[in-house]
Amino acid sequence: MDLNVNIVVCVPRPVLDGDFNAHSAWNSIREFLGVTVDDLDKAYLSLEEKFETLKSSVSLPSEASCSKIVPSNEPCVRCKNIDIEACATNSISLSALQKNVSGGRSWVIDSGCTNHMTGEESMFSSLDPNGTSQENIVFGDDGKGKVMGLGKIAISNDLSIANVLLVKSLNYNLLSISQLCYMGYNCLFTDVDVTVYRRNNSSVVFKGVLKGKLYLVDFSSSKAKHETCLVAKSNTEWLWHRRLAHVGKRNLHKLLKHDHILRLTNVQFEKDRVCSTCQAGKQIGAHHPVKNVMTTTRPLELLHMDLFGPIAYLSIGGNKYSLVIVDDFSRFTLVFFLHDKSETQVIFKKFARRAQNEFDLKIKNIRSDNGKEFKNTCIESFLDEEGISMSSRLHTHPNKME
Ligand SMILES: [Zn+2]
Repeated sequence: MDLNVNIVVCVPRPVLDGDFNAHSAWNSIREFLGVTVDDLDKAYLSLEEKFETLKSSVSLPSEASCSKIVPSNEPCVRCKNIDIEACATNSISLSALQKNVSGGRSWVIDSGCTNHMTGEESMFSSLDPNGTSQENIVFGDDGKGKVMGLGKIAISNDLSIANVLLVKSLNYNLLSISQLCYMGYNCLFTDVDVTVYRRNNSSVVFKGVLKGKLYLVDFSSSKAKHETCLVAKSNTEWLWHRRLAHVGKRNLHKLLKHDHILRLTNVQFEKDRVCSTCQAGKQIGAHHPVKNVMTTTRPLELLHMDLFGPIAYLSIGGNKYSLVIVDDFSRFTLVFFLHDKSETQVIFKKFARRAQNEFDLKIKNIRSDNGKEFKNTCIESFLDEEGISMSSRLHTHPNKME
């Protein structure tokens, strides 16, 4: 039933037993409101009547069992959340839940459940089938969901949710408010979203949104991800991993086993997630695709040029820059060593004249990365004189010289 009740602000009525101040105060309120005492009394009585009528027309569920409230062919959502005694849900929230989160990766932030739980085994990064003594979850229709284990779910590279129950045939992912509070987080619910704070420093852990009648958080969405630093606190094993310059887990085990490091004792190393720093450090550039189509028809038609340096170690001749010229047709490559960038123009001019003369072919086009050493008036006027055009390649890959 849709109850549309206005909120009435009640002004306490002062005692009129000859108290002069109270009497004058009441008079001024009456003047301010522009109504008489009788009017207010009438309004109050009419509100009282309305309330009585509403009360008689609504049948509130009291100590009702779930099977009476929820249609028999649909399971009770709140009971699925474990706490059958406290269940007082209705079919509206069930349909909202099914509409919003069924089968998805969104988590429902729920006050009714006593544990975080999900039915999706593939979400677990680690799962212990014997991690909990709890065997069953009782559903609203008196059915039972078997608890298959207790584990961790990675929600990003660095973070995971600990103590999540895997429940057979549970179609939703549920985050328990009581568990969050127990782990030192405060939840603030508003009419649009929910914010979870750390109790010790009030920093935001993550935010969820109110969708339909449910508070949902989707850790795969970018908004949640940025603010997420969830339930798993930085534990000792990952702290040691970082302290020891991101050493691998196997080596950490060895250090622990042979007692090589002071105070490194009683630490369980398990690879339950990927360290984002290690991941970033091990990333390598993808190989650029091989060019199978020949676009040039003769040598010196197109030359690729690049200058690199200064390099950390000087060459035998004491130079620290190198100019690389690759002929597109023959793939013939020349490397010139330079002491300074400014020598580029002189070296290129020498090379161009010699090559054109030696092979009796004209250089048609050169391609570079638009570096300043190739984009100056000196080299541009030379290219103009020789009738050589210059193009720049896109800076998609530092190693890419087609
Ligand atoms: Zn690492």
